[in-house]
Amino acid sequence: MTGMRGLEPLQVGLMFWTGGDLGFEATPDEIVESVSSLGVSCGQLGVHGNADLGPVSAAAWRSALESRDFRVVTAFTGFRGESYASIPICARTVGYVPADTREERERRTYEVSDFARDLGIPGLATHIGCLPSNPDAPDHLEVLGLVRRVCDHCAKNGQTFALETGQEPAAELLEFLRAVDRPNIGINFDPANMILYGSGEPLEALEALKDHLLTVHCKDGTWPETPGEWGRETPLGAGAVGMAGYVEALRGAGYTGPLTIEREIVGEEQRADIREAIGLLNSLRNLG
Ligand code: MG
Repeated sequence: MTGMRGLEPLQVGLMFWTGGDLGFEATPDEIVESVSSLGVSCGQLGVHGNADLGPVSAAAWRSALESRDFRVVTAFTGFRGESYASIPICARTVGYVPADTREERERRTYEVSDFARDLGIPGLATHIGCLPSNPDAPDHLEVLGLVRRVCDHCAKNGQTFALETGQEPAAELLEFLRAVDRPNIGINFDPANMILYGSGEPLEALEALKDHLLTVHCKDGTWPETPGEWGRETPLGAGAVGMAGYVEALRGAGYTGPLTIEREIVGEEQRADIREAIGLLNSLRNLG
C-alpha cells in the first residue's frame, strides 16, 4: 500500500507551529530547519491565531518547506483567545463553540484554508471545541452549519477538513460526522486526547471511527485522577495508549498516512522526547 502523496506508508512526522506565540519567535526558515534537524521530513503545521497569513509570509513558508522537500499534510488552525488551562476553560474558549467569536473564527478558518492552499497543503484540521452533546441545542446546530460551510470552502481548495478527537466520546463524534454529511469531512485521531479528556478507550474509539480517519497524532498520556480534570500528557510510550497496539490498530484500519508526533511541551525536553518518539515509531512501523 502506498502512503500519502509521495510519502512512505506510516512515515514518521511531527506536529509543529508557526512562530509568534508561546514565546517562540522564529522565521519560517528557522522553524522548518529546526524541525528537519530532528530527522523528519513531513508533518502538520499548527497555525496560531496570531500567525501572519499574508502573501509575504506564505511565500516564506513555501520556500522554507520546498527548499528542504518537507511535506506538510495538514494545517492545524488555532484561534486567538483559546486556552487549555482546564477542561471548563477549554469548553468556554476553544473552537467554534463560544458564540461571541464564532463568526470571526469562521472567517479566520477560510483564511487559513486559503493560506494552506497556497502552500500546497491538502488538509485543514482544528479542535472545533466542546460541542453540547444534545444535537438539538442551538449551539450544536450553529456549529454543525459552520462546519458544513468550512468543509465546502476546503473542498473548493481541494482540501479535506479534519476534526481533532478527544473532547467527546466516539459515538457522539460519529453522529456529528454523519450529520455534517460532507465527502471531505473526517478526523485527526489523537489517542492521548481520548485519555486526557477521559472520553473513552482510544483503541475502541479508533475502531468505531476508522472509516473517517484522515490523519493521526502519536501522543501519549495518563487517565485523569479526578473526573472532570485533565489527565497528564507523557513522553510517547510512557502513557496509557500502548504504542505498539496503536500502530498495529492503525495498520489494521488500513491507515497509511503519516504517524505525526505531537508533544505539547516546549524547550529541550520536548526535543529530547521527540527524538525518542521518532526512534520508537520507526521501530514499530518496521515490524509490519
Ligand atoms: Mg492532538
